Amino acid sequence: MKKAITRFAPSPTGYIHIGNLRSAIYPYLTAQQTGGKMILRIEDTDRERYVEGATELIEDTLKWVGLDWDEGPLVGGPSEPYFQSERRDIYMKWVQKLLDSGRAYADPTPPEKIDEYRRECNAAKKPFLYRNYRPENPPKWEPGMPIRFKSEPKSYDWHDEVMGDMHTGPEVCDDIILIKRDGYPTYNFAHIVDDAEMGITHVMRGVEYLPSTPNYLALYEAFGLDRPLLVSLPHILAPSGNKKLGKRDGAKSVTEYRSDGVLPEAMLNYLACLGWNDGTEKEIYTKDELIKAFSLDRIQNSGARYDETKLLWMNGQWIRRIFDEQGARALYDRTVNFWPEEAASYPEDYRVKVLSIIYDRLKTMSDLRTMTTYFFTDPEINVDTIINNKFLKKISESEIEDLLKKTISELTNLKEWNEESIQDALNKLLSDTNRKPAELFSLIRIAVSFAPFSPALNLTLDVLGRETTLARLNAVARAI
Ligand code: GLU
Repeated sequence: MKKAITRFAPSPTGYIHIGNLRSAIYPYLTAQQTGGKMILRIEDTDRERYVEGATELIEDTLKWVGLDWDEGPLVGGPSEPYFQSERRDIYMKWVQKLLDSGRAYADPTPPEKIDEYRRECNAAKKPFLYRNYRPENPPKWEPGMPIRFKSEPKSYDWHDEVMGDMHTGPEVCDDIILIKRDGYPTYNFAHIVDDAEMGITHVMRGVEYLPSTPNYLALYEAFGLDRPLLVSLPHILAPSGNKKLGKRDGAKSVTEYRSDGVLPEAMLNYLACLGWNDGTEKEIYTKDELIKAFSLDRIQNSGARYDETKLLWMNGQWIRRIFDEQGARALYDRTVNFWPEEAASYPEDYRVKVLSIIYDRLKTMSDLRTMTTYFFTDPEINVDTIINNKFLKKISESEIEDLLKKTISELTNLKEWNEESIQDALNKLLSDTNRKPAELFSLIRIAVSFAPFSPALNLTLDVLGRETTLARLNAVARAI
């Protein structure tokens, strides 16, 4: 396979949504698979949308997911600089070639005049094509004047690796702006120059750039450049309806998912499979498996629907997998920021034990905050919770008290305190009291946790320890 040189070219405009990150995954996989490289390029020429700190967020997020770039900010490389705002001399050099060959012109037309042309076309219900208003004798370029491409009305045919064979007529070619009034290049121009200078073989980006492609093809031609492979990535769709996933559709930013305790493995896995599959039923992929299995021709060409439930399900799968393959300690190392405050004063070993019995119920790491509090602090006793419980409703308060006392005495007499001995004691209690497990175990579980659910009762009591278990059971017995 030929080595692919791909790029991820985000604009530092603020938070990183699901779609932004997916646009980095496919170029990364393609580069890795072919032994090529992925370049990170920061497209910061739209100064109005520029957000301070956004570049650092992009870098940090890519590192978190494990999408290490081979060239770009922080790592450098032969095509430095990798910030478009620092490449303005390069764009001016390239635009000069077009000015010299008559394929670009300085445009002195004031913005009000351009608005007038646009209104004229709207009124006549004609498409607004700037080439019809091109100044006849453009002046010599001066700073503050935009530079436009001098287009030729031509048809274009090209192949998009995802969208297939494409064709457009001459009506879409126009005199696009190359250099803006503020001296910065447009995206349309800068990316052509950069992709050429950086030797990009695969231009992989959102499908929103597809309609502008004929203008890009015209620029390749004007510069005598070979076309790179063009790969349009379909939109990610909102959970319902047919629109593009937007801020209001309930999808959080990647940063928010990260602070909720979604694991990078799950994020990578989910997004890679959002609009791509390898043709099998396989759903869980490591990064290495994705690198092996990925292929451009299996990217679907229709929008992929975003499904947060699936993301969280996958995260649960990854939590289990890390526990099973790497052990409790390795999973624990990922949980450091996610424990309830009260956990801080407990030794690490104790938290590892809690994690070991609860991990298979976690959807995100932040579930630890709500699901484990009773391991670190005595729950508030609420007698109503016990007597109104659906399994305990029919049992009188004195019977409940009696059950608690029998439990306390059985557990007090246990010689050893471990999973098995506790389970034996619980089984004995069941037969001695003639109660159903749902009744007896619900009572004990609520009395020690006052939580809506807990891991298996013997495991919960084992981790809580004899002293805490008995103290809590006694406190509830007194309160009934
Ligand atoms: N800077 C563009 C964006 O963030 C990238 C488009 C591209 O990858 O060429 O949408």
